[in-house]
Amino acid sequence: MDTPAWPPEGSRQAALLAKLDLREPQELTVYLPLRYEDETRLTPIEAALPGETVQIEAEVVSTEIVYRPRRQLLARLRDEAGGEIVARWLNFYPSQQKQLAPGRAFRLFGELRGGFLGVEMVHPRLRPVERGDPLPQALTPVYPTTAGLGQTALRHWIDAALDTVALDDPLPAALRRRLDLPAFADAILYLHHPPPEAEARPLVERTHPAWQRIKFDELLVQQLSLRRAYNARRAHAAVSLTPHRALTAALLDRLPFALTSAQRRVCEEIAADLAMPHPMQRLLQGDVGSGKTVVAALAMARAAENGWQAALMAPTEILAEQHYRKLAAWFAPLGLDIAWISGGRKKRERAAAIDRLQSGDCLLAIGTHALLEDPVDMPRLALAVVDEQHRFGVRQRLALRGKRVEGARPHMLMMSATPIPRTLAMAHYADLDVSVLDELPPGRSPVLTRLVSAARRGEIVARLKDACLGGRQAYWVCPLIEESETLQLKTAIETWETLQTALPELRIGLIHGRLKSDEKAATMAAFAAGDLHVLVATTVIEVGVDIPNASLMVIEHAERFGLAQLHQLRGRVGRGAAQSACVLLFEQPLSETARARLKVIFEHHDGFAIAREDLRIRGPGEFVGARQSGLPLLRYADLAADAALIGPARAAAEELLATAPEVVDKLLTRWLGGREGLLSA
Ligand code: ADP
Ligand code: MG
Repeated sequence: MDTPAWPPEGSRQAALLAKLDLREPQELTVYLPLRYEDETRLTPIEAALPGETVQIEAEVVSTEIVYRPRRQLLARLRDEAGGEIVARWLNFYPSQQKQLAPGRAFRLFGELRGGFLGVEMVHPRLRPVERGDPLPQALTPVYPTTAGLGQTALRHWIDAALDTVALDDPLPAALRRRLDLPAFADAILYLHHPPPEAEARPLVERTHPAWQRIKFDELLVQQLSLRRAYNARRAHAAVSLTPHRALTAALLDRLPFALTSAQRRVCEEIAADLAMPHPMQRLLQGDVGSGKTVVAALAMARAAENGWQAALMAPTEILAEQHYRKLAAWFAPLGLDIAWISGGRKKRERAAAIDRLQSGDCLLAIGTHALLEDPVDMPRLALAVVDEQHRFGVRQRLALRGKRVEGARPHMLMMSATPIPRTLAMAHYADLDVSVLDELPPGRSPVLTRLVSAARRGEIVARLKDACLGGRQAYWVCPLIEESETLQLKTAIETWETLQTALPELRIGLIHGRLKSDEKAATMAAFAAGDLHVLVATTVIEVGVDIPNASLMVIEHAERFGLAQLHQLRGRVGRGAAQSACVLLFEQPLSETARARLKVIFEHHDGFAIAREDLRIRGPGEFVGARQSGLPLLRYADLAADAALIGPARAAAEELLATAPEVVDKLLTRWLGGREGLLSA
């Protein structure tokens, strides 16, 4: 009888495989070893060193159960050369002791330790043998598994799958040759069963061409599924917003500055998208201070001049209000009304704003996530802008889109100052079009960055006084205390009190997340108007805040902040004509990572360079976290280590989507099974 290719439905083994997300033989073929064990060699006990993982072959001399320090099974074994070893089990069955009958030979695989009784192995893997049994010829694969499913069983099902599933190569031969990749079947079989002559290192480090092929396929599948999701969304209808130039031109005329050429280019890209009868799906990346807000305002004006509604969502109340004030000042003279929606506004004002949006009298809305809440209804919403989009969850970003006009979806513009390196962006944002603002408005001089030990805090306070009495304004950012918001608040209040005592001649404000919205608004307004010299703040000011006259930034316990955060905070200054400075106070001793981070922020000003260094310091995991759901998980490829494969994977994806849909289907089923649906939201 043939061995079955899959455990019977409803069986325990089937349930265990499902726990590993394995639901059919095809998925087992691409379920690859985590590592390999070398059982092709025997090591004499005398020659092995403690700490080494080795295989030995020895005969049982004796076994006993001892009770001290706790119940355990000990077996003493001796190998052919006379070396002795103790094997120890802390959990065992009576049958195990029986199996270890004196005189029987075993192969033991495990890590050697120097123990009280001489060399020993704790819970070695045990295989009964006859003397002279041949050794395996190849490295033994070790698969990631789950409790209850042993390597032997898992290997059995994988081998059964390799026997039954066709391992045909979907990639066109020309593409494979161009990228110099081995055939799929060769790569898969090599990795499951490396031949005897296989070198361990490239297998373990996953640099072998067989691994390259697998990683390429995996990245290709990621690209394919994201691009497909992109195409699926593109198939929806949207309101085509054509240029009438009435409001956009008037707004451009009224701006106190001329657009940079990067802003002009990006505005054109967006305008072209908006004119399409399908929804825009664009990410606008631009470093801190590159001027994204005005780009958003121009897109919103385009919606309004076509008689449609637009909404701008920001992650904090402070930022939403700042946007509201800025855009209201730009739009009011054009006769355009803006509704401001945030959780903290008075009920009556809010209800009135909601009414105006509902009736369509008001075409523009600005707010926090309160915009997403039920009573807010924009029947003519044609454009949704999400500022600092990385601050929102995937769900929230999509919810704004859900406020759609019957039969059509709004155009989406997401904005982010979190720069990520180009290749990573290609992997993460393959389901979006990306525009980049790669130019800062003219007249900015780079912020002078200084690293100062907290021991010299007094000097900094004295300089702050001089600077402020000389007409400058400053932020003083309180230490981040991740574990406790209450503690962070307490520290902020204390800092504010100490600074007030130390600097009685200065007007000092305090802002943090627990203040009521109107208190926050009043404090920000006072700082913006120049009525306060210093603004003591928690990280609530981290993103978006734009007060060009503030030219000094002090960050306490800078070593506690991440690089992206430091870059954002430093970006609050250097927005006006004055030479700005950022003082990073740090506490000794510095951890190695903290030192590395401070060095990066000291040496670099460009957000992309900082992101690249960030990636180098901490690996791509965090960036992945920023996107979370939506991205098919990478099991084998590593976005940092395998960055060189991302570009070719993107190009191959475009080619296959255009020319070989059946290949795309084949790859997606092989790698994702039925899970592709997750992405097409
Ligand atoms: P971010 O990209 O960080 O959101 P903002 O939109 O807040 O940047 O713009 C930063 C500052 O630069 C604002 O004060 C804005 O008014 C100003 N600004 C934007 N574009 C220009 C420009 N082309 N020339 C001069 N100043 C500009
Ligand atoms: Mg901004």
